Amino acid sequence: AKRTTRGHSMLFSQSHVKAIQREKQIEQALRQADLEAEIAVYFQPIVDIGSDRTVAFEALARWTSPTLGSVPPGQFIPVAERIGLIGQLTRVLLRKALASAGAWPGEVGLSFNLSTHDISSSESAIALAGIIMASGIDPRRLDFEITETAMMYDFAQAKSAINMLKTMGCGIALDDFGTGYSSLSQLHALPLTKIKIDRSFVTELHKNPASLKIVKSLLALSSDMGLRCVTEGVETEEELAALRQLGGKLVQGYLFSRPISETDATEYLLQDGAA
Ligand code: C2E
Ligand code: CA
Ligand code: CA
Ligand code: CA
Repeated sequence: AKRTTRGHSMLFSQSHVKAIQREKQIEQALRQADLEAEIAVYFQPIVDIGSDRTVAFEALARWTSPTLGSVPPGQFIPVAERIGLIGQLTRVLLRKALASAGAWPGEVGLSFNLSTHDISSSESAIALAGIIMASGIDPRRLDFEITETAMMYDFAQAKSAINMLKTMGCGIALDDFGTGYSSLSQLHALPLTKIKIDRSFVTELHKNPASLKIVKSLLALSSDMGLRCVTEGVETEEELAALRQLGGKLVQGYLFSRPISETDATEYLLQDGAA
């Protein structure tokens, strides 16, 4: 038993060292990166399952590093936050995303992810407002996605930054709903227009009585509060059918499309009949 335990902890520390080395590599490559050239925005459709139309796209960051190749956002966004590059990164991403959205039909929205830093000072929020105005896009086409963790650092400051974006006409979506801490109290305290039900409640939805109950309650809650609700991570027809039965309307997931390039998004809209 002793040997197993020791072997196990050695394996653990090896993978731990690897993870730290990887993070160091990402940090180094990110510091040297030409963000404008290396970072692209991909788009994942958000579909109204009543009309079968794409109502919006969520912008998702994609980084192709000349040294590391493709690095997923789940890996490089936290590093960018830690080393103070996230402000610049968000601004590059927002400019690119808005430039793409400018070519879509006016009724197609854009949903954009914000980090803690982006809403933790009035300067960074004002910079975002400036980018929106310079783009010429109707702010009502824009939703900003925030997470509960992004609110935790300085709730009052985050709330005032969000209020500013809301006042411009932008929508505010609470992302990964159900996975954080004080979901319900925050629902009340924030000027939200939308919630996004996390993928973890959708996986095998049709077979999971607990998930069915949770999704049903979240749909009822959002409807009672006058909020729209997007269900994320729908991968199968069975999950979609279950969601439809519960009254879900807005859906995002691999079943419809993975995140796609700007060119493919334009093509997708043409086939969708929206353009
Ligand atoms: P998120 O905001 O929750 O984004 C949804 C993630 O789920 C995306 O991963 C998307 O590709 C993935 N996804 C969508 N549908 C499905 C599905 O049916 N099945 C499965 N398995 N996955 C699905 P991605 O693009 O790797 O992004 C990961 C996270 O990185 C995002 O989670 C978000 O927190 C962060 N992120 C991505 N782009 C940005 C950005 O521009 N700014 C900021 N601040 N964060 C970003
Ligand atoms: Ca999101
Ligand atoms: Ca999410
Ligand atoms: Ca997430």
